[in-house]
Amino acid sequence: MTSSVEKTMLRSLASSATAAMAPLARAASRAPAAQPWSWDPKDTVGGPSTWHATYCPGHAQSPIDIVKGDAVAVAGPALRLVPPTSGSVSGSVANTGNQIVLTPDADAKTSIVDGLFRGSPDDATFSLANIHFHTPAEHAVDGVLADLEVHVVHQADNPDVDRFAVVGLLFNADDSAPESPLLSAILSASEEYAEPLSEPTPLAVDAAAITELVGDSPYYAYPGSLTTPPLTEAVSWLVIANIHKAPAWQIEQLTQIFPYPTNRPVQPVNDRVVNIVTP
Ligand SMILES: [Zn+2]
Repeated sequence: MTSSVEKTMLRSLASSATAAMAPLARAASRAPAAQPWSWDPKDTVGGPSTWHATYCPGHAQSPIDIVKGDAVAVAGPALRLVPPTSGSVSGSVANTGNQIVLTPDADAKTSIVDGLFRGSPDDATFSLANIHFHTPAEHAVDGVLADLEVHVVHQADNPDVDRFAVVGLLFNADDSAPESPLLSAILSASEEYAEPLSEPTPLAVDAAAITELVGDSPYYAYPGSLTTPPLTEAVSWLVIANIHKAPAWQIEQLTQIFPYPTNRPVQPVNDRVVNIVTP
């Protein structure tokens, strides 16, 4: 088993390698490019109903309706934010025109899926690539959509490995709930990203705000795809089973930025198995 010291060394080596990718980091700090797709359900050129034909995806698409009774129980590791070094994840937040996206700085690379796939076909290390939002939620549970889904997207560190691991966090509106620290951080810059394709605004999110959402909750795990174009079928999905709560105004503020719902309809499960992983 890899010792924690070795893990830290590996991680710091990975961070150095990422920091060396300066052209990518510079590109990430510019305003996002216009995207050739939309959330408009009536858009016959770039709307969600056209994606399947345009991007030719296969039969392992996301999101899906997670049927609790069909989920196969397995034991597995808890999700943990590593390395918990600086106490915060620094990056920038921008409005891509379709989504509000928080992109970590290259030197702030971190992960909550570290080591999760060791020894599996997905044997790779993954780092946080971005955090973004969908209203309402994309994954249904027993046919019910929550009010918000946060996607914590991880990408394989090896640029030759086209793999993602995405943690899905579901929220329902509840005015008796305290403000979500993660949503508060994102909303603190809402004036800066009110307009589409705005310049990215620097933003730091307290690492604890991410960690508390993961905790020791069981999570649903299944193989799927990106839920927006290019719909790449290279995603290990980890949807946290505990549904979080946040005041309605926080979810409403994220919702009203865009004129349409920002959730792709659920896709056929086909022959995939959904696991419920209990740490
Ligand atoms: Zn997403």
